[in-house]
Amino acid sequence: MSKRDYYEILGVSKSATKDEIKKAYRKLSKKYHPDINKEADAAEKFKEIKEAYEVLSDDQKKAHYDQFGHTDPNQGFGGFGGGADFGGGFGFEDIFSSIFGGGRRRDPNAPRQGADLQYTMTLSFEDAVFGKETTIEIPREETCDTCHGSGAKPGSKVDTCSHCHGTGQMSIEQNTPFGRIVNRRTCQYCNGKGKIIREKCGTCHGTGRINKNKKINVKIPAGVDDGQQLRVAGQGEPGFNGGPPGDLYVVFHVRSHEFFERDGDDVYCEMPLTFAQAALGDEIEVPTLHGKVKLKIPAGTQTGTKFRLKGKGIPNVRGYGQGDQHVIIRVITPTKLSEKQKQLLREFADLSGQEVVDEQHDSFFAKVKRAFKGE
Ligand SMILES: [Zn+2]
Ligand SMILES: [Zn+2]
Repeated sequence: MSKRDYYEILGVSKSATKDEIKKAYRKLSKKYHPDINKEADAAEKFKEIKEAYEVLSDDQKKAHYDQFGHTDPNQGFGGFGGGADFGGGFGFEDIFSSIFGGGRRRDPNAPRQGADLQYTMTLSFEDAVFGKETTIEIPREETCDTCHGSGAKPGSKVDTCSHCHGTGQMSIEQNTPFGRIVNRRTCQYCNGKGKIIREKCGTCHGTGRINKNKKINVKIPAGVDDGQQLRVAGQGEPGFNGGPPGDLYVVFHVRSHEFFERDGDDVYCEMPLTFAQAALGDEIEVPTLHGKVKLKIPAGTQTGTKFRLKGKGIPNVRGYGQGDQHVIIRVITPTKLSEKQKQLLREFADLSGQEVVDEQHDSFFAKVKRAFKGE
């Protein structure tokens, strides 16, 4: 099955112009058209002419042919197949992209995993903390119910491929510098299926797959955080040729909370205190994700002081314990004072003197004075 040179087939020289190639093709294809020419080998010749023209009329294919001829020594696959009619979606595009991409041609018959899918789910702060079970609807490809994935109209005739006799494989003999080699490769006429569909399934138009909205139950684990994703195994698109289905990845987007702020498994909040509460001490109620908690404020509490409520944070999404809640104190300076309140504060100021003293450390005023002197 050694192939004739494409230029020879069309009877043109290697330097022929596009126009000359086209003219030669038109002349020969008329001469050998199977409807006109009843010679035994007319159909074969017509195919050969068509194939030669398809290559030589395409700049990219012609350039490749001029360089490598019928075979590409680097890739080791034999020729461009037996005819111009490749059928089944296996065309020049595939061959050429695999040559120029340098990659190996994919076996269309090999089992392949279905595509993974991604779904973004927006959660409230609380739902992320406590988790929940919910149903989502995702558009995905499913195996066609009408033809069960065969792509053939139910009850229609499916022929055994005459080119490969139903094996889905073809043997291609090839002359190489190392001798004659027989390559087995997927039959291009049936795409390796061994069958030719005469009537396509009306539901999926022969693809064997349809787009559906699929409802999937998703269990959101407690403690999930913004940007984390959950893999739902096997809920992606179905596989090909008996390959496994892909996975579904649910990516979480967690809304912020108006009071709580999250950092990992810990929760932060700010609690306002009056000047009197901070100075004299108090017991206050603090909201947590797990209900209200009493917090003792010692006398002399400064603004910015942090208190930790152990275990009042967020459960770890992997089950490693539970975070804490941190309460940050903000002492609020009063802005609306009655005459009586002002009077009392003046008296308080007289009693305290001018210095504001931080008991535990140093006098703030002393520090300020040193800063001005550059000490
Ligand atoms: Zn179908
Ligand atoms: Zn076949």
